Amino acid sequence: MRKVFNFSAGPAVLPEEVLAQAAAEMSDWNGSGQSVMEMSHRGKEYMSIHERAEQDLRTLMGIPDSHAVLFLQGGATLQFAMVPLNLLGQNGYGAYVNTGEWSKKAIKEARRFGEVDVVASAEDRKFTYVPAQSSWKEFDGASYLHYCANETIGGVEFGFTPDSGDVPLVADISSNFLSRPVDVASHAILYGGAQKNIGPAGLTIVTMRRDLIGRARVETPTMLDYQVHADADSMLNTPPTWAIYVAGLVFQWLQRQGGVAAIEQRNIEKAALLYDYLDSTPFYTNPVEPADRSRMNVPFRLPEAALDEPFLKGAKERGLLQLKGHRSVGGMRASIYNAMPIEGVRALVDWMREFEKEHG
Ligand SMILES: *Cc1c(COP(=O)(O)O)cnc(C)c1O
Repeated sequence: MRKVFNFSAGPAVLPEEVLAQAAAEMSDWNGSGQSVMEMSHRGKEYMSIHERAEQDLRTLMGIPDSHAVLFLQGGATLQFAMVPLNLLGQNGYGAYVNTGEWSKKAIKEARRFGEVDVVASAEDRKFTYVPAQSSWKEFDGASYLHYCANETIGGVEFGFTPDSGDVPLVADISSNFLSRPVDVASHAILYGGAQKNIGPAGLTIVTMRRDLIGRARVETPTMLDYQVHADADSMLNTPPTWAIYVAGLVFQWLQRQGGVAAIEQRNIEKAALLYDYLDSTPFYTNPVEPADRSRMNVPFRLPEAALDEPFLKGAKERGLLQLKGHRSVGGMRASIYNAMPIEGVRALVDWMREFEKEHG
């Protein structure tokens, strides 16, 4: 058993069971005499790992046959470009909801390829809420509607699936991937990097409506065309084999936990433990509208910045790691992804209580 709890926003904590299995199989996978890292990606051993990972992900998320699953690279950041390149056509426009730092990055990148209309923004209140859909501008003529389902930095999460009518709906789910059920069928594209809630860095997962594949602009680089990856079953070139293997182990672990609905219940419980404590004292503050608070990333502040250093030092002594907030917002942030046990959240709350007693 490890003696630390890692609250990193990403790369982030992985289930101990998964790490133990990966370690046990490190130099000899399943009697093959090879590490997964050493296998040809076109050999039958690796192919079986790859296919099972996709199958298990389909089962966990309820991904219908109408949607392709792509294992890509380049992070969610590359999707900020791939989405417009593949969906805008020559003169379409992208509709974007702006709920924070990651939305802003997606918007900025899309502007390189065409028109963007920000149909709703939470900037007026420093990105502390999700604007109700009734307040959004019309986007009937858009090529797609994009939103970030969980703002990892601001700690703001959508509690609903936007209604986009006939407009293809696209979501960045990097930091709440597999943390709660998602209505896959009503999303044209869901994408996210693996390193927050799924596995090692280096893998980006995309699920995409097959009928929207094949619309990339002519100048789109081969590697950025969804069609090419879909046709090649994510084996256009060498895929991130090790990352896909570990992600596959995480999918199996999730199934043993009872699947996404079961892990959601645990995530609700963990988040409530932390938010209830935050709300019980004026010492710590979280600025986010309660209904829109993220279950995955919980930013909070101490009464003065001078206390940050001693708080982090004491946390580290107790094995509570990586609690420092994002450099753009300061303060603290606890990321409590699927693999964070509730004991970790309890240990954090215990430390927060103790620290408050000392300094409050
Ligand atoms: C981390 C993150 C990204 C960027 O992911 P990379 O894989 O590093 O490119 C984008 N969107 C969200 C919501 C994130 O949390």
